[in-house]
Amino acid sequence: MSKTIVINGKECAFDGNKTVLQIARDNGFYIPSLCYHPKLGPASKCRVCVVEVDGIRNLQTSCSLTATDGMIITTDSPRVLDAQRMVVNLLLANGNHNCMICERNGDCELQEAAYHLGIELPAFIVEEREDKDESGAFIVRDVNKCIQCGRCIEACNRLVVNEVLDFGFRGGHTQVVCDGNKPMGESTCVQCGECVQVCPVGALIEKKAIGKARSWEITKIRTTCPYCGVGCQQELHLKGDQIVRVKGVEGAKPNDGHLCVKGRYGYDFIYSKERLTTPLIKKNGKFEEATWDEALDLVADKFKQIIKESGPDAIACVSCARSTNEDSFYMQKLFRAAIGTNNIDHCART
Ligand code: SF4
Ligand code: SF4
Ligand code: SF4
Repeated sequence: MSKTIVINGKECAFDGNKTVLQIARDNGFYIPSLCYHPKLGPASKCRVCVVEVDGIRNLQTSCSLTATDGMIITTDSPRVLDAQRMVVNLLLANGNHNCMICERNGDCELQEAAYHLGIELPAFIVEEREDKDESGAFIVRDVNKCIQCGRCIEACNRLVVNEVLDFGFRGGHTQVVCDGNKPMGESTCVQCGECVQVCPVGALIEKKAIGKARSWEITKIRTTCPYCGVGCQQELHLKGDQIVRVKGVEGAKPNDGHLCVKGRYGYDFIYSKERLTTPLIKKNGKFEEATWDEALDLVADKFKQIIKESGPDAIACVSCARSTNEDSFYMQKLFRAAIGTNNIDHCART
């Protein structure tokens, strides 16, 4: 049976178990929230998403508050906004944020929250903390922009189970560390980039994307990763016709935003000048460019010659894991029906 809560005077129906934040989002209400990520569930760490609930004295974190039928919620009272402003101001003071030169400018959840709350300048003195960690092959960590939301830690430990990240040190010195406080490049991090994918701010950045494009110059195109047969769904971020970065598509099968290091960071092979653009046939020990007709005729002639001399079972085929199912189907059809052998296999089977 459908239940109802009231948010800022609007009746919002919902089914099942949902948090107030989820229902607010479903109904178009913006409540700033920095530690909650749909893939990770409620965290209640950042305390930005507080709301007023009729009948409860203290403000409640909407990301962890399970909605019950008849609840009356206020997300925009002066009390709520003052509390949210205080938290965002403290987060801004606990780092060093210069949006003008930040890669996440225009695509940052902290910036969005500050804008929503009308924070023009941090209310408290900001102290620079540490240099960036640029030791990772593909990821730059900037502790000055980290708001300690813990999303990266949850993602690394619970989603991809690489168990590299954790909070280290104590109190005001708390920060995210790799393997007890090693540079990322010397840790057991496999550079899968899942932590970058969930980070709400510019504390984890794709190295190859730095300086390539502002967020508003980006066109996003969905595609399927070409590296293997899993078929992970990717979102290419392009400036013009150049790929700037690759993200996993959240909520899409089969990968739900996850990508391996090849799929996420290995995209620039498409610009390699060493890519083959035409078939090559070896003549007198040297490869020479050929047309597709010449190449296919040559292969067909060789097949015929082998079948004539040794029979069809002297030929075998191995289908490539980068091929689509349809191409692999045609491959086995060609070898079974046209050539007459069952010697077929697929490289991903080994
Ligand atoms: S992380 Fe966000 S708030 Fe901080 S400098 Fe970058 S864009 Fe600005
Ligand atoms: S890149 Fe992957 S393995 Fe490395 S810290 Fe991030 S989530 Fe963990
Ligand atoms: S690095 Fe990003 S995801 Fe990790 S705690 Fe800091 S702000 Fe959150």
